[in-house]
Amino acid sequence: MSLLYDVRDDRFAQLTHSHARLDTLWTGGRWCEGPAYLAAGRYLVWSDIPNDRVMRWDEADGSVSVLEQPCLNHNGHTVDGAGRLISCEHGGRAVSRIDYDGTRHVLAGRFSGKQLNSPNDVVVKSDGTIWFSDPTYGIDSDYEGNVAVSEIGASNVYRINLDGTIDAVVTDMVQPNGLAFSVDERLLYVSDTGFTHQPDCKPKIRAYPISADGEMIGEGHDVAVSESGLFDGFRVDTNGNLWSSAADGVHCFSPSGELLGKILVPEVVANVCFFGPKRNRLAICATTSVYSIYVNARGL
Ligand code: MG
Repeated sequence: MSLLYDVRDDRFAQLTHSHARLDTLWTGGRWCEGPAYLAAGRYLVWSDIPNDRVMRWDEADGSVSVLEQPCLNHNGHTVDGAGRLISCEHGGRAVSRIDYDGTRHVLAGRFSGKQLNSPNDVVVKSDGTIWFSDPTYGIDSDYEGNVAVSEIGASNVYRINLDGTIDAVVTDMVQPNGLAFSVDERLLYVSDTGFTHQPDCKPKIRAYPISADGEMIGEGHDVAVSESGLFDGFRVDTNGNLWSSAADGVHCFSPSGELLGKILVPEVVANVCFFGPKRNRLAICATTSVYSIYVNARGL
């Protein structure tokens, strides 16, 4: 085993560069999460949740600055098809979008008249619908948000439809967390970090089948179970491999869930995203730091 990789399958060598190195883009956070790449501006953003700030790394000169503080304890981020930043807010208990004039526009704050728990991670489908997870981490304590009792009484995955209505789409998880679509968008992958609240909840990524028009059409099934800590956020590459956060680094799985290998990281990893003009760099949010590494894969 090298210091950088833990190779479990020959295919992993094709997905990585043996001579690549793990760069430290920044350090000094408390719990870094929610990486997203704004291609038009060539910058990365991420959340430093307990410090209630959104950070920005500029690809042009490598500088890091505070994009927003306070920020309602952002967690997960993504970018929609029009290049706008979509944010999960623990403090706001909402999913919001930054519009072109810089204003915050709330996309979802309630479901069935009840306040959301604390949206955690978010993904946009090609049809423009926005899918997000809503576990309780942002209301469990004041550390990552504001302590409160769940009004909904459950932790679900929701879909924001094009008309602004919201549907619950995954309701059988303890604490749904990271989420991503398969390449053909016929599967929704969701990680469950419910082990934090229920010790018999296996740390896993499940896949839920979706119809061509975006409706849930069956039960979910386990794709991968973690052998090292929890799967929090993850991303899918153009060949359908999953690159997931875990306690000891980034675990790479084939589309069918075989563990191909790991990128070993010296801190607990919370989330990843592909970035750069070729989307072949992985940004790794890991506790106090953001690392990056070039891989031989491109993000979806
Ligand atoms: Mg998360």
